[in-house]
Amino acid sequence: MGLTVVDHAEMLVCMDDARREIADGAVAFRDGVIEAVGTSAELADLRTAADLVVEARGCVVTPGLVNTHHHLFQTLTRALPGAINTSLFGWLKRLYPIWGQYRPEDVFAATQLGLAELALSGCTMSSDHLYLYADGVRLDDSIAAAEGIGIRFHATRGSMSVGESAGGLPPDALVEDEAAILRDTIRVIDRFHDAAEGAMVRVAVAPCSPFSVSEGLMRDSALLARDKGVMLHTHLAEDADDVAYSLAQFGCRPGDYAERLGWTGPDVWHAHCVQLDAREIALFARTRTGVAHCPCSNCRLGSGIAPLPAMVAHGVPLGLGVDGSASNDSGNLLLEARQAMLLQRVVGGAAVFDPRQALFLATRGGAAVLGRDECGVLAPGKRADLAIWDMAGPSSLGAWDLVAGLVLAPPPQARDVFVDGRAVVRDGDLVQARREDVVRAAQASVARLKELA
Ligand SMILES: [Zn+2]
Repeated sequence: MGLTVVDHAEMLVCMDDARREIADGAVAFRDGVIEAVGTSAELADLRTAADLVVEARGCVVTPGLVNTHHHLFQTLTRALPGAINTSLFGWLKRLYPIWGQYRPEDVFAATQLGLAELALSGCTMSSDHLYLYADGVRLDDSIAAAEGIGIRFHATRGSMSVGESAGGLPPDALVEDEAAILRDTIRVIDRFHDAAEGAMVRVAVAPCSPFSVSEGLMRDSALLARDKGVMLHTHLAEDADDVAYSLAQFGCRPGDYAERLGWTGPDVWHAHCVQLDAREIALFARTRTGVAHCPCSNCRLGSGIAPLPAMVAHGVPLGLGVDGSASNDSGNLLLEARQAMLLQRVVGGAAVFDPRQALFLATRGGAAVLGRDECGVLAPGKRADLAIWDMAGPSSLGAWDLVAGLVLAPPPQARDVFVDGRAVVRDGDLVQARREDVVRAAQASVARLKELA
């Protein structure tokens, strides 16, 4: 790849240690790596030598957004009747039978649709928690889908092993044998996980939740992940029912359960953590255990308000997640950042959470949670993952503080998105996949699922 210079950004948000915001900024990158960041005047020579110049007048340029929690297969089951006014356990029970009908092509179509939505709204790296493997579905299907869109992908080999008859939540027909889960997890790690800096695909081990897998599988998963040098991910302390289940089944709170099973450390990130108490927050901070905060989903399912200011104060590694599209029901990280900020202000007042803090979580914070310190920052030597936001549209024009405006009045879509230096979105459209192909495949899958229902 040649030299690309993004030039004359109205504001370049670096997210570096000094939190620099550069007016009339420019960023130069080659072979996926950032070479220089500065004012347009400082990068004038590089511009002259560039193979491609991307004009960014009137735009804010930020590191690409990072999504730390999603279930992309759920993109085909948004706003599903019967799951609209229910909390977590009832919502899951309504959806399980429909997800149980998925075939490999449905997972592929749902993943492409969800990733297209994320890319078009400025996301450059997403994790995906796939925990349902009906009818021949494999993690390979979601990874192939991600390669077609072009964003960095942290696929997680999810699983469910405790069905209703054994005291779990999912129907027995949808749970897998634990030995088979571990075998397949080893297979996908060996096949797809890339530990190198700048990797486009990584794999993590992700039993679904304490109420759908056994204690033994949680323990074995942690041992396997550490043996392979990959990360661990699950849902934790999502709502009051989740905590009650933990107390009844395991005799302890979710944080203690996680600690007991080896599920704390810098190689672990948990989704939600809405109900963590002060002691559990201190545990997460001490062990550098990450949290994927998903405020829209927490609102949608009435799960509660995560204690974000306490987590921030203690230094818990924090990122944002849109969560599955059956509980959001969209995948837009700027909206998630906005929701995170608004939700904290409801309880803590207007000064408790700043838009820039929310933008940090959506970029560098999320990258760190996923173990990707080479991403989420615009600085020399870091990966060239960035989003260009046109602030001249009707929904954002008039913002005086453009960076705050990006969170307070998010533009509807990113204008351009680069991942590892390659264009994924230009002028608001996908570059590496055709939008109409993605839409058509998703429409066909939704039609089939509706017919079966
Ligand atoms: Zn989730």
